Amino acid sequence: MIPASTFKDRQVALFGLGGSGRATVASLAAGGASVAAWDDSEATRDSAAEAGIPLVDLREADWSGFAALVLAPGVPLTHPEPHWTVRLAERAGVEIIGDIEIFCRERRRNVPAAPFVAITGTNGKSTTTALIAHLLAAAGRDVQLGGNIGTPVLSLDPPRMGRYHVVEVSSFQIDLAPSLDPSVGLLLNVTPDHLDRHGTMARYAGIKERLVAGATAAVIGVDDEYCQAVADRIEQRGKRVVRISARRPLADGVFAEGQGLSVADNGAVRPLVSLAGIASLRGAHNAQNAAAAAAAVSLLGLSEAEIVNGIRTFRGLPHRMEQVGRRGRVLFVNDSKATNADAAEKALRSFDRIYWIAGGRAKEGGIESLAGCFPKIAKAYLIGEAMEPFAETIGSALPVERSVTLAAAIAAAAADAEHDPAAEPVVLLSPACASYDQFQNFERRGDAFRSLVQSLDGIVSHEEAA
Ligand code: ADP
Repeated sequence: MIPASTFKDRQVALFGLGGSGRATVASLAAGGASVAAWDDSEATRDSAAEAGIPLVDLREADWSGFAALVLAPGVPLTHPEPHWTVRLAERAGVEIIGDIEIFCRERRRNVPAAPFVAITGTNGKSTTTALIAHLLAAAGRDVQLGGNIGTPVLSLDPPRMGRYHVVEVSSFQIDLAPSLDPSVGLLLNVTPDHLDRHGTMARYAGIKERLVAGATAAVIGVDDEYCQAVADRIEQRGKRVVRISARRPLADGVFAEGQGLSVADNGAVRPLVSLAGIASLRGAHNAQNAAAAAAAVSLLGLSEAEIVNGIRTFRGLPHRMEQVGRRGRVLFVNDSKATNADAAEKALRSFDRIYWIAGGRAKEGGIESLAGCFPKIAKAYLIGEAMEPFAETIGSALPVERSVTLAAAIAAAAADAEHDPAAEPVVLLSPACASYDQFQNFERRGDAFRSLVQSLDGIVSHEEAA
């Protein structure tokens, strides 16, 4: 845990008692601050009280005494409208920050030269964050991995020289970190997402830009116009920028061509590593993640040999095109994290002959955008609330089975795929839907897929095959 010494002997209001909120309470208390914590949910308050967290009803508190309001990243700062604590803090002139900001202040005060890598982007954050941590660990470095990806940043071990903090940062967290100053900042891509919470696209892109604008060196994906403009803008201000692309060769930077990553230095290009056969980094979207990770660790001093070795041994993250097993030629892939059509498209593009399990609680827009992938799908097995609307969108474009449940879908898809003469038929769970109609979250849905697949007769699990 990182004690928040920068608030020693001061009073801090904290709202939002989920995992990161509780970790922040512990960090502030350990640093000598007194914390007034609150949450709108009575159940959450009760369980926090049981855990010994000091509760103060912030509606009735004297805000003039607070040095800061620490907000959980899930709580609206601006859109659709500011949370009531935000209004009270603003009225009292109290600054509003999040746990990442506290981490930055601690690092700056105690070990400003300790390496700190911060990763953001609309998609690919977790994969890139995990890959960077893996590359550093494989090269023998002392690594702390956390932030939006899992462990709250203040629950990590404290910064010190030679210890690398690799932190995934969401746009909400950037919004709450006014002095975010990583040694290496990564911005992977920006596409419309969370606009309900950020207002306009310009504002959303502007928030993401702050992570690289505040970094000592920046790695920026230039495959979309927003990030391209960010790269140009902050470079003009004198910042070191390494560009990456999964779409086109660059004169300077790291780019993917086919399945290979190359490094370009002032027009001179040399191959770095082939991603062919690396299951955890399949697909053009993962080439972007791999290029970004390679560029970042190169800035941190890893050799190309260390990068190549680390990329080859990366096992990937669960629920993101995770290869859970094989039976004969049939490959079973868990992409439960694909909770919208955009993410499902990445997986559908990555395989050639697909037995597709989709459905759950549909998001706006449905799956109309996936029509271009339909020719690669042998059959669709639909589950959950989206079953009928998805069947309607698919129409007669491909065979559809209304499976209702995940278990029925897996059984049917596995049986059908077995008779497919293709070199590698794939049974793919990439639902293009939230899971909440049938599961607690996408992790539970993916875990169910994995265990159902592994209970089929004759399955060789990925672990055994590796
Ligand atoms: P995040 O943490 O940003 O949500 P993840 O690394 O968890 O991203 O990947 C989630 C899903 O997003 C993946 O399953 C894949 O479908 C898609 N994805 C991953 N990387 C990229 C990328 N670089 N560009 C576009 N989509 C991506």
